[in-house]
Amino acid sequence: MQNLTVLGSTGSIGTSTLDVVSRHPDKYRVVALTANSQVDLLFRQCVQFKPAYAVLLDEVAASRLRALLKEATLGTEVLCGVEALAAVCVLPEVDAVMAAIVGAAGLRPTLAAAHAGKKILLANKETLVMAGNVFMDAVRASGSALLPIDSEHNAIFQALPRGYDGNMKGSGVRRILLTASGGPFRNTPIDELKHVTPEQACAHPNWSMGRKISVDSASMMNKGLEVIEAHWLFNAPACDIQVVIHPQSVIHSLVEYIDGSVIAQLGNPDMRIPIAYGLAYPERIDSGVASLDLFKVATLDFVEPDFKRFPCLALAYQALRTAGTAPTLLNAANEMAVAAFLDQKIPFLAIPQVIESVLNTLPVYAVSCLDDVLGADTEARSAAQLQIQRLLK
Ligand code: NAD
Ligand code: MG
Repeated sequence: MQNLTVLGSTGSIGTSTLDVVSRHPDKYRVVALTANSQVDLLFRQCVQFKPAYAVLLDEVAASRLRALLKEATLGTEVLCGVEALAAVCVLPEVDAVMAAIVGAAGLRPTLAAAHAGKKILLANKETLVMAGNVFMDAVRASGSALLPIDSEHNAIFQALPRGYDGNMKGSGVRRILLTASGGPFRNTPIDELKHVTPEQACAHPNWSMGRKISVDSASMMNKGLEVIEAHWLFNAPACDIQVVIHPQSVIHSLVEYIDGSVIAQLGNPDMRIPIAYGLAYPERIDSGVASLDLFKVATLDFVEPDFKRFPCLALAYQALRTAGTAPTLLNAANEMAVAAFLDQKIPFLAIPQVIESVLNTLPVYAVSCLDDVLGADTEARSAAQLQIQRLLK
């Protein structure tokens, strides 16, 4: 029996995780569920999974959940606030933590899970982008098992030799081929991108996801963040990570070896596949996903990414090459810009402008501890806010 904490249980990854868990009541038990403010869904999840703890960020929401649970005579204890998110990750009875909060808010609890030596199912890529070396040091020091849930990184993990230790050359790996769908604007005339709405940006052709990552996919910042994520997970330099646009999203990524062999992982675009893999590793369990129908897929296309159309991808490579706090600045500026775009305050094409101005104005420092990361994150948010304000005028 594996005891789980699911951070961000009401989101896209969180609900897919609980879907897989519900198929295997003999293998997984939910100890804690957490959400930002979605009381009704969190309540329904408490009824179904009967966790010992439920965490909400907001005190009003927490009181409402307490009342609902009392009425239903359920014994789940409701906690509130940021500290509680980390607290439910380090409980002695917890074996594994699904890190599925979106954005920088996921960093502290995920890092707490790493310090506590828990098995980590990592969906929250922002943790690695913001604080790659701090997080990886914590994972190594405590001996946490780290399973990538992002579909591409999960595919790479599966295609690398079992027990891969971060030594690409020693493992005979030549490069990593990171696939990308290209998002909803892959073929939209660049001129029309000026006017696209949040609804259009969130209408992903292949995947159903939360709004922030959907906008990131439309700008291809998602792939940029994933390049940085791959760098930390697999100890791969930027020059050995090639992004490949593959519109069908059937090949989830590939690893090329020095003998010319290329190993890929394929499957339907459904996050329950990497989630089930992470939950059961090193075994396999049913994820509820249908067989891949290759006859229906019929063709697989591959295109080189266009950095002019997707300047966010170029900015992410630039930040990775600059290193230090540069990826932290990139991530924070992107979160601010995406939120402003979703609030219809700035146009889609202003997202890379905000990020570029932050990267070009703020100094970059070496990162040796969490405070370095948090300092850069705060500075970048203020600088991005100023830039957004300028665009409003
Ligand atoms: P989502 O928006 O659907 O869900 C986010 C979850 O986090 C919700 O439960 C929400 O209540 C919670 N949350 C939001 N803000 C919070 C805060 N400030 N404090 C505490 N909790 C908060 O997002 P998602 O699509 O499930 O993505 C979650 C993470 O997984 C992201 O980092 C994303 O990049 C990554 N990811 C998602 C997918 C996908 O298919 N959805 C694929 C790969 C990686
Ligand atoms: Mg991905």
